[in-house]
Amino acid sequence: MLKRPKAFLLLIVFLASCRFLPATTPPNLATVKPITPTPAATGSVSHLGLPWDDAALFTPGLVKNQQGQYSSLRGASVYHIALEIAPDLVNVKGREEVRYTNLETTALDKVAFRLFPNLLGGKMEIANLTVDGQPVTPEYGLANSLMSVPLKIQPGESCILGMDFTLSVPTDAERNFGVLASVDNVLTLAHSYPIIPVYDEQGWNAEIPPQSGDLTYTDAAYFLVRVSAPAETMLIASGRQVSNEKTGQTQTAVFALGPARDFMVTAAKGYEVQSQQVGETTVNSYAPVEFHKRAGLALKTAAESLGIFGKRYAPYPYTELDIVATPTLAFGIEYPGLIAITNRIYGPGDTYIGTPVEVYLESTVAHETGHQWFYNLVGSDQLDQPWLDESLTQFVTWQYFADRYGEKNAEGFKQSLTDRWARVQNAKIPVGQPVAAYDGAQYSAIVYGRGALFFFALRDQIGQEKFDTFLKNYTQQHIWEIATTEGLKALAERDCSCDLSPLFKEWITP
Ligand SMILES: [Zn+2]
Repeated sequence: MLKRPKAFLLLIVFLASCRFLPATTPPNLATVKPITPTPAATGSVSHLGLPWDDAALFTPGLVKNQQGQYSSLRGASVYHIALEIAPDLVNVKGREEVRYTNLETTALDKVAFRLFPNLLGGKMEIANLTVDGQPVTPEYGLANSLMSVPLKIQPGESCILGMDFTLSVPTDAERNFGVLASVDNVLTLAHSYPIIPVYDEQGWNAEIPPQSGDLTYTDAAYFLVRVSAPAETMLIASGRQVSNEKTGQTQTAVFALGPARDFMVTAAKGYEVQSQQVGETTVNSYAPVEFHKRAGLALKTAAESLGIFGKRYAPYPYTELDIVATPTLAFGIEYPGLIAITNRIYGPGDTYIGTPVEVYLESTVAHETGHQWFYNLVGSDQLDQPWLDESLTQFVTWQYFADRYGEKNAEGFKQSLTDRWARVQNAKIPVGQPVAAYDGAQYSAIVYGRGALFFFALRDQIGQEKFDTFLKNYTQQHIWEIATTEGLKALAERDCSCDLSPLFKEWITP
């Protein structure tokens, strides 16, 4: 867990370098040529030629009530990343520099990075790893998806970690729903750079994620990402596009995002965009031209969801939300400021598995938009406590239907939750377990079905008014923080002035 100190000014004083452990052997995998000149290690400017502390790059991407957050998250990690996407839309070269600050209460002797492409059917190799400009040798684990960088860093100290990397992307969507894939002229680059996981009481919180769930558990951070790609593609990314220049066959765009828990970019050919303004936020719906009509439905659904969730829970933090049709094998996947929706529910037919595609499209877009609150704004351990984001997001998807069409007309969606649970014969399997504790059928039935029904049970027990107040408080008290089952329970008990232990025992905790 990122234990954010209350006294942020201390961090400014302590922006000293960490001490690195010199490499005793040359860095391995040193076959990758740097794509940019070697940076001034601890200077104020990164390899992108951009300053580490320029809040002005991030604030235009945030709605007004969030714009003060940059200074209050001064110790959050800042990623400066360059991605060069080859014309084949398969191979990527990258350079990353991260300013990491130790926000824990103890000294650390390593910083961990997850290399998720090595679990996703792709291949990521790291070279020229440095800590404050000095070469270091990392250790690898978890099937090369965990890289540990040795260093010594005291609480409050910062350092710059730099590395080059190469990435090759699978050309099918078989692993983890194809979150990282190049299929049908659409490159989806999820988790495509080395990313720092949460440090908590377990140490660096890292495991090999089950294929059925989400992969990441991260703190809120800042991202400046320069992407070069074939000029004929449309680049769709988390965050605000700062610039985009075309030179010959290549375009180079810079994106700024943060606070956020991940960065996602898609490069797609033959796409168009439709847009709608919701308050300070522009909602964009990207899809192949032939899916124009249903991309319009996705746009309208996301826009309505933003309004409903923004009013009920907390304002949506960014000035942009992108919806992208992709070849993913999941119905939809959430990323900060961007949601990917499978193109199978845009058409060409009118039904998918016997159900009108509009039904799937509307519920999926509302669900993934809900994750902007419960995954990104309010973080949680998606692997160990998946109910905190998935069960709650299923409930708020019902709330979308109820607020937009009336509770009576939301019964169909509520019935889908009941039906999911019925797939395991309404077994009272605890909702609050890790993804790995469920078998395939149980995970969907319990976390996406029974877990959502828990929130109806909670509402029935404490009453509508207290329940609504509780969910708003829960959201607003965890903005850019990490929520836990215990914290959710404590807050609900405070807001209802009641003991919820029996209810949690019946539904949530084993
Ligand atoms: Zn979800």
